[in-house]
Amino acid sequence: MKVGSRDVKCFECDASHAVPTTAKTTLCPRCGSYVDLQDYDIAARSNRNIRTRGRLVVRARGDLNCARAVCGSALVEGRVRGSLHCGGKAVLRGRGVFAGDIEAVHLVIERDAEVEFARAVRAVRVEIMGKTMGNIVCGGQVVILSQGTLLGNLHARALDVEHGAELAGQLEIRPDIETVPAPASADAPDPAAPAATA
Ligand SMILES: [Zn+2]
Repeated sequence: MKVGSRDVKCFECDASHAVPTTAKTTLCPRCGSYVDLQDYDIAARSNRNIRTRGRLVVRARGDLNCARAVCGSALVEGRVRGSLHCGGKAVLRGRGVFAGDIEAVHLVIERDAEVEFARAVRAVRVEIMGKTMGNIVCGGQVVILSQGTLLGNLHARALDVEHGAELAGQLEIRPDIETVPAPASADAPDPAAPAATA
């Protein structure tokens, strides 16, 4: 019996290696660190610390309270209080405020969603079908589909606004807007951490 494989990236050293699609965990062959490949389904209040190359689903009654959730793909119908770093497609379907950093390769704001981003969102591709408030930095194309709304500033390489869409804010469309979200491992220094030098 043949099992498919997929490439996963190490959280620590960024090296990719192939794993069977059925694997739940793996060890990086380069640095030996553990890589979680499990899917997580959050349907209630949770303080779980999530760092996986699998899928994260936050259900409508889900309330994820974790400083920074890292996942391979995401579907958010409920609440995410911290940052969300998604290495693939992130679909936002609910209503509410995202207080943390949101990063994804492909961000989709669905038709019935009403989202507000307290901090600038970073993505390589963005599709807006619902109501969106906040600033977006996109290293690729932003598409605002019919009935989609963006109230906020937009920095992108390309923009496509369908008839019936709404866009209000400052625009900067340039070919050299940064493409790739910052890797999940390249953190800014923790402001709560004590200074390195006395
Ligand atoms: Zn590694």
